[in-house]
Amino acid sequence: MLRTLTAACALLAFATPALGQDEAALREAVAAYDQPSNAERLAVLTGQLDAAGLAYEIQTFEGGGRAGAMTGSNVIVTLGEGERDLLLTAHYDAVVLQSGELADGLVDNAASTVALIEAARVLSGRDLNHRVQVIFFDQEELGLIGAQRWIAANGTDRVAAVVNSDVAAFGDTLMYGENNGERSGFVLTALREECAERAMTCVGFPVYPPSDDRAFIAAEVPVVSIGFQNRVGAHQMWLAFNGGRSNGLAEGFVPEVFQLIHSEGDVIEAVDPATVALAAEVYVDLITRLDAAAQ
Ligand SMILES: [Zn+2]
Repeated sequence: MLRTLTAACALLAFATPALGQDEAALREAVAAYDQPSNAERLAVLTGQLDAAGLAYEIQTFEGGGRAGAMTGSNVIVTLGEGERDLLLTAHYDAVVLQSGELADGLVDNAASTVALIEAARVLSGRDLNHRVQVIFFDQEELGLIGAQRWIAANGTDRVAAVVNSDVAAFGDTLMYGENNGERSGFVLTALREECAERAMTCVGFPVYPPSDDRAFIAAEVPVVSIGFQNRVGAHQMWLAFNGGRSNGLAEGFVPEVFQLIHSEGDVIEAVDPATVALAAEVYVDLITRLDAAAQ
């Protein structure tokens, strides 16, 4: 029994190298992004990258929205030295609520941010054919501005593919957009293979809510945008976006995730660190698959 247990523990340790942190630590890492301003969220992000031993570059840009001009900061972790790039991206900024306060912004999108740091930590120990850039975008909530400015400043000639994470905070069901153009087909294939190998429920959306992926679609770069939810919620959301008038949902029905994000309900109680850990593992595996497959 003991020997079996020891073997099982060894296997578990091998199977989950992504987890530099346990679930309590992951929850704490996500909760830390509850800050009064996006500048303070940036400080949390860079502090966590420092703690993870990940070097980063901050690229500032002139952005802003209806409220006026505002300097933004994208944060880039570069791993490996290949001639072509794979990007793993998530926005770290939160939305300003109607009250004028900044949302806690933990489901949207601190959980993805922490998952990407975990993924970067694991990938930093790998031999990679591509240069992998893990990018934390600012000002997504103002209209994908951080991603657009990054593309304008850096170009996309080197970029083989982009994996974008938005809302990866609870549930065991992966959702992804299929509305990203024919050139993204090989990215979807890699994701579907990952889903099959994990026997993970993955739901492809012909219409999927926009995130920074739209900036890359506009730049004609292969991209997939990924989120997580519970299984029922993922299918309700599919119906809400793709079911048309006869989607069968009750009049006025709003999927749970849309009751949380961009609201005062986007708080730590809505976050399950097991999903953050799962997302980190899936992103490591997906980048690894693309690193082997993409040109
Ligand atoms: Zn978001």
